[in-house]
Amino acid sequence: MAEINPYIFREYDIRGVVDKDLTPDVIEFIGKGFGSYMKRNGAKKISLGGDIRLHTEKLREGIIRGITSTGVNIVNLGAVPTPAQYFSLHKLPVDGGMMITGSHNPPEFNGFKMSLGTAPVYGEAIQEIRKIIESDDFETGQGRVEEYSILDEYINDVAGRLKLQKPVKVIVDCGNGAASLVAQKLFQKLNANATMLFCEPDGRFPNHHPDPTVVEYIQDLIQKVRESDAEIGIGFDGDADRIGVVDNKGDIIWGDRLLAIFAMELLERRKGEKIIFDVKCSQALPETIEAAGGIPVMWKTGHSLLKKKMKETGALIGGEMSGHLFFADNYYGYDDAIYAAARLLELLSKTDKNISELLANVPQYYSTPEIRAECASDEEKFSIAKKAADYFKQNNDVIDIDGVRILFGDGWGLVRPSNTQPVIVVRFEAKTPERRDEIKNLVLNKLKEFGEINF
Ligand SMILES: [Zn+2]
Repeated sequence: MAEINPYIFREYDIRGVVDKDLTPDVIEFIGKGFGSYMKRNGAKKISLGGDIRLHTEKLREGIIRGITSTGVNIVNLGAVPTPAQYFSLHKLPVDGGMMITGSHNPPEFNGFKMSLGTAPVYGEAIQEIRKIIESDDFETGQGRVEEYSILDEYINDVAGRLKLQKPVKVIVDCGNGAASLVAQKLFQKLNANATMLFCEPDGRFPNHHPDPTVVEYIQDLIQKVRESDAEIGIGFDGDADRIGVVDNKGDIIWGDRLLAIFAMELLERRKGEKIIFDVKCSQALPETIEAAGGIPVMWKTGHSLLKKKMKETGALIGGEMSGHLFFADNYYGYDDAIYAAARLLELLSKTDKNISELLANVPQYYSTPEIRAECASDEEKFSIAKKAADYFKQNNDVIDIDGVRILFGDGWGLVRPSNTQPVIVVRFEAKTPERRDEIKNLVLNKLKEFGEINF
């Protein structure tokens, strides 16, 4: 069997550096492992999409060889954004699917997001695929491949659900990623007054890296919004499952405040609904949801986990700080930044307020960005996080559904071991910048007492 780096089998996807971790042999083995896993779970046919990275087509060839060798049939969608591949799971007669994408990661990375039925394959299931590969325990057969072009159906579905009452002046930055495949057509169909920025697919990402949640990569969008007097700026990550937004002044609206806008609009129509969000979000979000008559539900970080929680609770809207937004209200419930963008335009078209005015009643807290602190090892990471939880539980209220969110009354600190690296992610927030820094210093100093950690 080929030598495989076990670390490519991550919590939410299989991902690695192309040619180093993902050699042609390894890619084919991943196809065999995935195909075998799917077949054993009753799947006969799957849909396969890929982003616009330069090596995606090479990965597609190998993965098709692997999957078909297990007897599973493939509907090949070609180059599509991730949400269009999710869309195929609901629309085509398939039993699951795979998306080849490096998402927002550096250009040398690529990977595989997988679904069984319409639900994500993650966590233990990904480890099961690893075990199938390591033990050479593959199904055999002869799967067929058919080509299917889904993008027009996808665009029509999204556009058919939403109606702009007036054109909204928007700058759209695709970062040359997979959103480029649909953005122009969709925003035209919606009658938005859209100016497209870097919306030609180019896997070299020549203008900026496609990750609109990184301040450095959203500067072009900010500048363009400011100089063109637009109402809003919208950016997409490389595979268009995460959104980044700037307001009419060019200020960044992070995922939690964006979710607050959608939550307020929903709760105006439907009181008492649950809104799901991850532990990294500002306290301003649950406060806003409650004030608007909704039920805030804080949950673990990770798009697969949030999707599952939404299904379990019947929540209509959910979201993450990272820009994954989920709509089960007038949509399918998966994270689709393109749908979220269109829906935001519809929302703006129905009000005379601009985004900053919509956020006027949302409390403003002062938070730090995410700080990633490296630990000596994975063991050390868990040990430090455990000691922190035990220590702070003595005198503080804590929320420990994912890492530990320590509540200080007028602020909070989050200590969360990363799912994928020997890293502890921390974040702090309070009512004043001074208090935020005080909480930050207090927590960071404690973490240093608990083990070897570098900030
Ligand atoms: Zn992504």
